[in-house]
Amino acid sequence: MADLHFGADQPTAAEWAAIDTIVPESDAATVTETERLVRGGRSRRQGLRHQLLPVLHSLQHEIGWISPGGLNGAAQRLGVPPADAYGVATFYELLRTTDPGHRDDVVHVCVDPVCALAGSDELRASLEAEGARVHASPCLGQCERAPAQFIQGVRRPDRVPADNATDGEPFRLPQAGDPTLRVLRRVGVVDPTSLDSYREHGGYEALAAAIDMGPDAVIAAVSDSGLSGRGGAAFPTGVKWRAVADEFGPDKHVVANCDESEPGTFKDRIVCEHDPFSVIESMTIAGLAVGAPHGWIYIRGEYPRATAHLEGAIAQARAAGLLGDDVAGSGQGFDIELRRGAGAYICGEETALFNSIEGFRGEPRNKPPFPTTHGLFSQPTAINNPETLVNVLDIVIDGPAAYRSVGTERSPGTRLFCLSGRVAVPGLYEVPFGTTLGGLLDLAGGPVGSLAAVLLGGAAGVFVGPDALDMPLTLEDAREAGATLGSGVVTVFDDTVDFESVVVRIAEFFRDESCGQCVPCRVGTQRQHEVLVELQGSGGPLTEQRAELIDDMAVAMVDASICGLGHTAASAVRSALALGLIGNSP
Ligand code: SF4
Repeated sequence: MADLHFGADQPTAAEWAAIDTIVPESDAATVTETERLVRGGRSRRQGLRHQLLPVLHSLQHEIGWISPGGLNGAAQRLGVPPADAYGVATFYELLRTTDPGHRDDVVHVCVDPVCALAGSDELRASLEAEGARVHASPCLGQCERAPAQFIQGVRRPDRVPADNATDGEPFRLPQAGDPTLRVLRRVGVVDPTSLDSYREHGGYEALAAAIDMGPDAVIAAVSDSGLSGRGGAAFPTGVKWRAVADEFGPDKHVVANCDESEPGTFKDRIVCEHDPFSVIESMTIAGLAVGAPHGWIYIRGEYPRATAHLEGAIAQARAAGLLGDDVAGSGQGFDIELRRGAGAYICGEETALFNSIEGFRGEPRNKPPFPTTHGLFSQPTAINNPETLVNVLDIVIDGPAAYRSVGTERSPGTRLFCLSGRVAVPGLYEVPFGTTLGGLLDLAGGPVGSLAAVLLGGAAGVFVGPDALDMPLTLEDAREAGATLGSGVVTVFDDTVDFESVVVRIAEFFRDESCGQCVPCRVGTQRQHEVLVELQGSGGPLTEQRAELIDDMAVAMVDASICGLGHTAASAVRSALALGLIGNSP
């Protein structure tokens, strides 16, 4: 057993204060020497290492960067090897380990395709002309109001200018007032900061019903409903919950994955901002059903309003006895901690997310073992995204048969779709599974200009042409068409779009977001980007050599990557080639 060695740099008083805010010295004293040393704090009692990301956030926020002294102080306080802490700090886009030379706020401006179409280059130029510190960012999850900005504050709150512009105004969905809405029923209707308002709109009736039903009946209802995960993998939720419930032991977890980072996705942001209690209530139902006392919400660092509303909802639910040692008089305990991500797409992958919460680099783990047996802290874990969780409320109250009354046999229920790009009314839409792509676009006022292609499923998805407008949006139809619904991204492009630029940007995104731990993905995403830049620069058609290279790299990434990023990094590129959107220039 080796002791930890720290460098000579010491934190300033301000840095110690930033660390104290998250982990006071008295807390550190409660961690035993063994816990401090064994596996860098990943011990049975979890030590304090899981506070590393919050401490780094605190340093970044107070000082504007993470200095060697601040990092040493964080490592000392948490009992984490300093080299490990450095590895974590350098993993995230929103954390800086070099002195930026100023203490100003940083304005992150999205440069992904939708925001580029909406003028993000011009926005960056105008902000820079005003003297702002501007940073080019991947998707910020505000595609319905592109071009997107997120301001990372130094000693001032993080904020989103579009939120500030609408402060005090009620949020309005494009489908506001539609009586068929399920997941979005309360969005724009309920006061997201008030438990009373949530209760006035039916809130916490599902938890009461779930407690009456008991865990087995709740899991049976979720299974019978056919609910599948809405984050992209579409795994049956009831199967996942049953597997966790069947595990022995008191230390189980329920995790809400609110780290949607797929370019084009903003649905969970809207749910968390405007109906946060529904996420808390459905997580509580999940916790009681699978016998997990620990709940965690992992939310994108770029979502300050959703974070604030979720924190407020957790505090109010706790004060009302709806979280804590005896949830609503059930005799069962369940409580929730919230963790903010720090700008890493890969942390939306479930095992990378676990590592991030635990205070490690957000790198995906090999599967198996699966999270249902070895999830957060290597303990049984049910992880779902907010859209999936909120569906459970209606299933518990109305029963699985009512839930299945819309949608199709194999894709029951409704689905949220994030519409952006060249469409008349961008925004979040909820439609029954089986609605056609054309029907969905009509709901949003139809395409603007002459439709050239739709990107389904985001950067990890595929382009489809206008001939796909009749395709029913179901898991099975998408699969049959070689497409994916993914996380519900529907990005519309007209024939004025420069698809080579779009595809180069998608390739650049994957190159930047690859965590780098497996060679096919690390090298493949880099080479894919290079080939596409060459193609763009050549102004000519795709040569046989380039086509072969793209195909070979895609095969290697699909076959030999650990996680979905490597598996899907070539999907959009290859579909753009297949549709002739790129590579056919004279
Ligand atoms: Fe990391 Fe890519 Fe491997 Fe996924 S496939 S673990 S992102 S290197």
